[in-house]
Amino acid sequence: MYVELALPIPMGTLFTYALPEAFSFCQPGMLALVPVGRSQRVGVVWRILEEPAWTQGTIRPIHDILTPEPLFDADLLYLLDWMSRYYLKPLGQVVAAAMPAHLRFEPHHRAIWLARIGSIKPEWEPLVALLEKQKSLTLTTLKRHLGAQDLEKNLRVLEKQGILRLETQYRPKYPHETSTQPWSLSSAVDIEEEPAKELNPEQRMCVDYLTAALNTGSSRPFLLEGVTGSGKTEVYFRMVETCLILGRQVLLLVPEIGLTPQLVHRYLARFKTDLAIFHSGMSSRQRFEAWQRLRSGQARVVIGARSAIFAPFIDLGLIVVDEEHDPSYKQEGGIPYHGRDMAVVRGHKAGALVILGSATPSMESLHNANQGRFIHLKLNTRATGAPLPTIRTIHLGREENQRTGARSKHPLISLPLERALRQTLDKGLQGLLFLNRRGWAPSLLCHRCGHAVMCPNCSVTLTYHDKKSQLICHYCDHRQPPMDVCPDCGQLSLFFFGPGTEQLEKETRDCFPTARIARIDRDSVVSKEVDLEKTLSAFRDGDLDILVGTQMTAKGHHFPRLALVGVVLAESGLWQPDFRAAERTCQLLTQVAGRAGREDNAGEVWIQTFDPGHYALKAVVHNDNTGFVRHEMALRQETGYPPFQRLALLRFSSLIQEQGERYCRVLAENLPVSPVATLLGPAPSPLFKLRNRYRWQVLIKENPGEKLHGFLGHLLKTAETLASNAIRIDLDVDPHSFL
Ligand SMILES: [Zn+2]
Ligand SMILES: [Zn+2]
Repeated sequence: MYVELALPIPMGTLFTYALPEAFSFCQPGMLALVPVGRSQRVGVVWRILEEPAWTQGTIRPIHDILTPEPLFDADLLYLLDWMSRYYLKPLGQVVAAAMPAHLRFEPHHRAIWLARIGSIKPEWEPLVALLEKQKSLTLTTLKRHLGAQDLEKNLRVLEKQGILRLETQYRPKYPHETSTQPWSLSSAVDIEEEPAKELNPEQRMCVDYLTAALNTGSSRPFLLEGVTGSGKTEVYFRMVETCLILGRQVLLLVPEIGLTPQLVHRYLARFKTDLAIFHSGMSSRQRFEAWQRLRSGQARVVIGARSAIFAPFIDLGLIVVDEEHDPSYKQEGGIPYHGRDMAVVRGHKAGALVILGSATPSMESLHNANQGRFIHLKLNTRATGAPLPTIRTIHLGREENQRTGARSKHPLISLPLERALRQTLDKGLQGLLFLNRRGWAPSLLCHRCGHAVMCPNCSVTLTYHDKKSQLICHYCDHRQPPMDVCPDCGQLSLFFFGPGTEQLEKETRDCFPTARIARIDRDSVVSKEVDLEKTLSAFRDGDLDILVGTQMTAKGHHFPRLALVGVVLAESGLWQPDFRAAERTCQLLTQVAGRAGREDNAGEVWIQTFDPGHYALKAVVHNDNTGFVRHEMALRQETGYPPFQRLALLRFSSLIQEQGERYCRVLAENLPVSPVATLLGPAPSPLFKLRNRYRWQVLIKENPGEKLHGFLGHLLKTAETLASNAIRIDLDVDPHSFL
């Protein structure tokens, strides 16, 4: 018998090994230890064969099977295989990226006592005596007693003599990580039990629909589009409940688990059952343990970020992808998979009900619904009966909205917004000021020569961070103190340009000196300036008046006393070289606006902008997502962008600019031509230099009615064949970032 294995090696094949008689119990999904060159590696058994697929050269036998049960079930193997084909990445690399912890095993040696045979040198006597007494000891223990010097050599001599036997066991290797599981059932003990909420007629209809689909095993995914505050979570929870009663397992995917502690909290308050949490901050050990609790059926619900799509299940009945439009479902770098798309693939294979939920669904999912591939359900009213907030724009270009004087004290908060926020605070209610840029100012400019201070490693400006008094690159983390003199013209003419959250916080404090204010963004959270969970709950409980922050404040939070949301600069996301810029802006602003007035207090939203006529902003103001979608879909169809035509992005980079340029010319002459796709480039990437590498890209656009994948394989092979070792090539299928 033979086995084919996926090894964590960047080669596009499975590896064949002989399967000795002793391992006849071997099944796909088990981990095997095999020789690779002179070393040993752990691989995943993919297939068992009667005859090897390939007969040249010698086929070496596997050394051991490390797991008595398959660690990966058929559904997971299918998913990984699907990903490898779709994203054109070697299977072993997909496995290693999906489950790094499971492929790290390390040898543990042990000496086992046999008998006193022959003459024993006096210097060996302590070792022999110790082992004779204990019968079996690990190498680590022996070293502690006798020192490491010559120990292994001596053991081997003694083994030859027949005095002892050396045994090697492979055990999972856990790096020493210190992160902790943020939530567990034990922490739920104090959580007050929360009963199921009454369903309104719209929610009831959705639940009935979904329950019928769950019972009949319908395989079409559902797109649940519900305005902010419409009670999508309650719909999910009803389905979780049904699934648990049926004895099946549940996967709840959320964009960023650190930002959604409330969902976990609400889940625990409601169900009080054990759940496994998967997120990127977990250590390998925690991941492995969570994995085992699921495999044993002890935990039946997983809440996690995108990588939880690789969690093992015995009987998966339901997958929920909350905020399915969120960009963080797309993995950047490595295997560039999209968590939502993988959820659909996995759900289909497992026969599980898939619900994709959002207030502002992605164009891709809406297109799938229009094409009949998804079933579209809608929640048009807020669950509490509260009306949607009133939204107004403030045209920053108009004089009456500007602060007078070049050095105004509060340039970021316009007079109408200041007035409205003051009234809100006077009523004892809360405000949220949103700006999706961290730091003090995104650039340091010279007002004489126009020079902008750039990162030495990347082609981006350095952001000034006042708290650290440093200029920081948000891509490579390069740091330097700000200079006084322009590096280009030598004049004392540098000034900070553009707003950031630090500046906004300072200005808010100046404007509202008696208000209790906190800032939430990556900097304040990472530097532990604020405790994210505590700050969010303080704001929820009314112990803070104003929250200032980035998109971290926008995600799914429910603040009962929040009445006013101010968007400081609406178009900051529109200035990206990205065909999704308008869609993302619309989604983000709808989400942040949706935080206002969720309970008894009427909500109001003020959007500051220089471009109030932009269709994305107009749609947000009029709560007209349908209108936005119509406009955007027409635009995408006309220009041939997703969801109508598939895209792929071939990126390549080099440390030396000339090498990259040379490769660029060679590639341009040799790019394959095909009726399947239109190729744009090679051209320098918008972010031309990143972490000291010079970057170029070719955009591949699927032609209408064609299938891109066969061509992509061919293109990738051509690009790789032409490249020297100095060129790094990466293919991103369905790219979400075009920088
Ligand atoms: Zn200058
Ligand atoms: Zn940089």
